[in-house]
Amino acid sequence: MFEQPFHVSAGRKFSASEKTDAEELVKEWHQHGQEKIEGEREKTAEELLFIERFNGYLRELYLSLGMKQGTSIDATQIHILPSDAYQKIRGQSAVDSCSAYGSKENVVMMRDTDDKEAMFYNMAHESIHAVSFHSFRAETKPQQPKVYRMAGYSFRNPKTRDMYFRGFNEALTERTAREILREHSEDMRATFNIPMTYEEAITGNQSRYSDYLQVLDELATHIADNSQETPGAVFARFQKGMFTGNMMALRDVERTLGKGSLRLLANMPDGFMARWSELRPKLLEFITTKDFNVRTQLQSELADLLPVSERELYDRRLSVGFADDTENE
Ligand SMILES: [Zn+2]
Repeated sequence: MFEQPFHVSAGRKFSASEKTDAEELVKEWHQHGQEKIEGEREKTAEELLFIERFNGYLRELYLSLGMKQGTSIDATQIHILPSDAYQKIRGQSAVDSCSAYGSKENVVMMRDTDDKEAMFYNMAHESIHAVSFHSFRAETKPQQPKVYRMAGYSFRNPKTRDMYFRGFNEALTERTAREILREHSEDMRATFNIPMTYEEAITGNQSRYSDYLQVLDELATHIADNSQETPGAVFARFQKGMFTGNMMALRDVERTLGKGSLRLLANMPDGFMARWSELRPKLLEFITTKDFNVRTQLQSELADLLPVSERELYDRRLSVGFADDTENE
């Protein structure tokens, strides 16, 4: 049977049976996500074949990352909806959106299109979210587990509802999707007769990720320079964390850029959203520069743009000596 990957952790006052209840509930959500959605169309034989191929590509990636096991995407988790049905479900704010991932039910939703290549690219991206590590935290009531860590690195700030590491996780997801499809472009061309030029003509969801991709690439390069390895090696550690839930690779960020830098990265873009356009070039330069004084100056300017609650946590981080408090906050 197909097993969904998830992990439920429970608050202190939870009994073992309450934890089991919470796990059962998440399982129900996931099973529900595999049922047909109203308006959904049948997948074509070619789309089913793509899903099968993509799972093979994923297995290769897991092996190359030294993972003993990894998760596959199941065709029942992917729902292809005609444009109007997709729009109805996603709401008016999603007019530019061609695909989405739902973490609660662990589903991929695709807006139907004649552009097969775009469809497969977007399906690859959303599928990576679905096979990433994800966990739920049951808090006040076992019947209402909250999404604590959504998928990969991103998780919700319980108070503000902003996502931490959302931009970072999107960039990793998108970079991973592009790399997988580029690596297997010959197979994709031969099997599906598509030109594989999508990356050059990216529109929709993926064009929005280019900011974050640049940050991720510069970050991996800087860490690599610092530790005398290749950016690919750094990137692979980040990737492995996305699939396994082990966030240790994030330690490299503060090791390279200094204390407090991780909170700045975690707030990309949600906490910084109000001033994102002003902040983006600053964040890039902060990550890229090798000049300590310039970096220190930029860091203090960036910290000034944090929302108040984040600023408090940032200041606390700077005043405390121990490492890695990010997972508990
Ligand atoms: Zn995404």
